[in-house]
Amino acid sequence: MKSYDAAVIGGGVLGCFALRSLCRYRLSAVLIEAQADVCMGVTRANSAIVYAGYDNKPGSLKARMCVRANRHFHELCSELDVPFSRCGSLMTSCGEKGNAVLEKKYRDGIANGLEGLELISGDKARKMEPMLSRDVQSALYAPMTGTVNPWRLGIAACENAVQNGAELRLNTKLLAIKETDGGYILHTDREDIFCKAVINCAGLSAHVVQRMVYPCAVSIEKDAADFLVMDRDIEKPSRIIFQEKEDGKGITAVPCTEGNLLVDSAPRAMTRPYATSAEGIESIKKQLTALLPELEQDIIRTFAALRPNPHSEDGRSINDFCIETPAPGFVSLIGIKTPGLTCAEELGRYVAGICAEYLQAPPNPAFDGHRQAIDCADGDIVCLCEGISRAEIVESIRRGARTVEAVKRRVGTGMGRCQGSRCEIKIAQILETYSNGTL
Ligand SMILES: Cc1cc2nc3c(=O)[nH]c(=O)nc-3n(C[C@H](O)[C@H](O)[C@H](O)COP(=O)(O)OP(=O)(O)OC[C@H]3O[C@@H](n4cnc5c(N)ncnc54)[C@H](O)[C@@H]3O)c2cc1C
Repeated sequence: MKSYDAAVIGGGVLGCFALRSLCRYRLSAVLIEAQADVCMGVTRANSAIVYAGYDNKPGSLKARMCVRANRHFHELCSELDVPFSRCGSLMTSCGEKGNAVLEKKYRDGIANGLEGLELISGDKARKMEPMLSRDVQSALYAPMTGTVNPWRLGIAACENAVQNGAELRLNTKLLAIKETDGGYILHTDREDIFCKAVINCAGLSAHVVQRMVYPCAVSIEKDAADFLVMDRDIEKPSRIIFQEKEDGKGITAVPCTEGNLLVDSAPRAMTRPYATSAEGIESIKKQLTALLPELEQDIIRTFAALRPNPHSEDGRSINDFCIETPAPGFVSLIGIKTPGLTCAEELGRYVAGICAEYLQAPPNPAFDGHRQAIDCADGDIVCLCEGISRAEIVESIRRGARTVEAVKRRVGTGMGRCQGSRCEIKIAQILETYSNGTL
């Protein structure tokens, strides 16, 4: 049986950053992920926003981590060679109730130590973003808000952890945990693994994983959200636009680092997991027309997300990050929702620190946090829409991509107008030459 100092369960963005942070210490670490690639769960479908920190209650862990993470985000993305755009955001309101919400968020933002936050008039907001509706009365401007591709960030963190000696077990589902002398035996559907400490980052199933060995009073209720992706070529706002309606949160429009506009809905009840709802999509389109009337709604894709909502035993919703340590060598991140992407590095360092202290592991002077993005274009173009070459696809396979989807998420194949209809077969053939050993 293979043995490690620490095992991370779940390869979402949080597990990937926990693994990378473990590499800052002298210890052996492994990540166990049920799916064929990392970042295929909640991390796969989210709004891609690096939040400023005005949405979180002053004094909460969320607020402290979010503000700190936002300040260092550029540095983090430079280290990991991941595109990051500090595009700023406007939270808009068209009525009195919305204006009052913006004022409260402004006060919270100031209490959280944010710089540059400004309450502005509708006219000033329209000067900044001329596509905004005439109905917008006021806006909260946050220049520090940004956007990052969530799975690119998680994959980069994971690659960097592997460069630093951590191990990755994909297609490996944890089935049971047994506490044993000096640690745990992890029974998976492939092999048994021994570890001295566990970091549980199993996302929507984190409470289930904790219950494999310890009680967990937290339960997770799921809800959903719908998303639209617009073609890159349309004219669009340059900042993230939030809509605060008189009856609560509305849509959010995000000009992504890839150039597309991503638009999401407020939370809705979950039907089938990851299935979009026709009413949800229609409702986003209607709200978008009201908020950005001139926008050409050139939709190239729709998808849905699942959101974990942690609840305590008495049924109350838990609003702060829920971190449990049921035993000294076991730490769980349970139902981490927004701003979990923004705080992934902070949360990873936090749980790895708990683990390292338990293991009495000293810092690792050999840790190197730098990773380089794939950049080896040659003349043999496979993805015609995005201009992605065979050499880039081969390099993504060399770094661990084993499916067409995994290649797409590393080099951007299939992200253009044809959505992969022209290149997917060619990529599958290249993957086959890899599995035949003839690549
Ligand atoms: C709709 C929506 C929008 C959001 N927008 C933002 C945003 O704009 N900005 C922001 O900061 N945050 C945002 N968030 C929050 C952010 O997406 C999450 O906090 C983050 O992605 C959670 O990552 P995770 O690693 O906990 O979970 P996941 O990505 O779900 O990863 C958990 C992994 O554990 C694996 N797993 C589970 N059980 C097992 C098992 N038994 N064995 C092996 N593996 C297992 C799963 O396969 C999965 O890959 C949003 C969330 C939602 C839902």
